[in-house]
Amino acid sequence: MRSLLGCALLAALAAPSAPVAAQSNAERVANDSYTRSHDYDLVHQRIEVRNFDWDSTSLDGRVTTTLVALRPGLDSVILDAGRGLAVTRVVDARGTILKSAAHGDTLVVYPARPVAFHDTLRFAIDYHARIDNGRGLTFIEPEGREHRPQQIWSQGEDENNHFWFPTYDFPNDKMTWELAATVPRQYSVVSNGRLVADRRNPDGTHTVTWRQDPRSATYLVSLIVAPVIRLADTWRGVPVDYYVYRADSSRARRLFGVTPDMMEVYSRLTGVRYPWAKYAQTTVADFFGGMENVSATTLIDWLPDERAYLDRPWYQWILIPHELAHQWFGDLVTCKDWANLWLNEGFATYFETLWEEHQYGADEAAYSLWQNRNSWMNNQRLYPVPMVNRNFKDATEYAGNIYGKGGWVLHMLRQQLGDAEFYRAMKHYLETNRGQNVVTADLVKAIEQATATNVDQFFDQWVNGLEQSGQHRPGV
Ligand SMILES: [Zn+2]
Repeated sequence: MRSLLGCALLAALAAPSAPVAAQSNAERVANDSYTRSHDYDLVHQRIEVRNFDWDSTSLDGRVTTTLVALRPGLDSVILDAGRGLAVTRVVDARGTILKSAAHGDTLVVYPARPVAFHDTLRFAIDYHARIDNGRGLTFIEPEGREHRPQQIWSQGEDENNHFWFPTYDFPNDKMTWELAATVPRQYSVVSNGRLVADRRNPDGTHTVTWRQDPRSATYLVSLIVAPVIRLADTWRGVPVDYYVYRADSSRARRLFGVTPDMMEVYSRLTGVRYPWAKYAQTTVADFFGGMENVSATTLIDWLPDERAYLDRPWYQWILIPHELAHQWFGDLVTCKDWANLWLNEGFATYFETLWEEHQYGADEAAYSLWQNRNSWMNNQRLYPVPMVNRNFKDATEYAGNIYGKGGWVLHMLRQQLGDAEFYRAMKHYLETNRGQNVVTADLVKAIEQATATNVDQFFDQWVNGLEQSGQHRPGV
């Protein structure tokens, strides 16, 4: 994710984690700066949503969840579900009505009989969701303003998607999903993965179904309902789509037209081909910047005009490359907990610089690195805080570390290792952890395996903060 206004707004958006129900069979840790334990593996969710109402900011939903028990005799399933979700019925695959209980922002579902280790359980939850805290879904009213059509967009990161559908809302579990939204015909529906169906209904609505496959994390589930049109582009047979208001069509072509080249450059630098079925970028109103929802990035609707291109338009130099880089770093390989968020954001920030280097030359890239360094140096609060740190209230409290410094650490690593070794290590890191969750140790291990260079000291010095001042030596 990338914020237009820097860290302050970003921090405000990332609200503290939801409290956890007192009674629980799973060993859940209340402090979400550590990876949660949970006793099932979320495999697939079919998310059906309809009856969106802008006045009451509400919707009706049915979510069918398939999961596998990770302990013998699983007799309760703990899901994250915002307190604005009123559950009307839970029914399993055999048609048996299941008991459930809501505790704060948690929903516990009781299977008809305990589920054996590695057995599968499937159940559907019907609910009515009222979004009254602005989290998860944002309903936009035109309010008489130009360039602000009525629309809805979601924002999952860090733990906000469970305010509009029940799920496991922490990054250390990955699933496939389908999202079927029924909306008035004048609205488009944009979501993750492949478009499966767009069915007209007799009542003036249509039901649009998307399917995300392979697996990704639930904070990357995205829903946009808006009067946008699709501008179609392509990269090596992969659909590349830009969804904008009709009035923005000509600006959008120029702005987003760099995307296929960028996909080519990133695929080459990482050694891993762009991994998803399509890439969509959709602009919405009142968005804070950009969010890398898997294969379906969401962006602010402030498209640069001709004058902006006389300078370095933030949108094209930073926002588009940043969110695209996350499709590898964050979406394909995902931090296991928010303490390791620099593995998403440091890479996405550094890949802005790598795009600059490719597109505009080494001097431009060096200028950006210099700016990033100055910005970090001007923020003394960050000096004593290690990049991997669990002492935070929300995931982006030390955004200056995980973004700018994260990018710098990767740049230093590249200088130390040399280009060939650095990129070989990146490729190995992505390939060995594809579809998985990672902590910083996984990156260290991948570098060592790919380059036969031990970087423990480098990481202690720059990432873990374990080297005492005066004791560290320069060099890897
Ligand atoms: Zn980001």
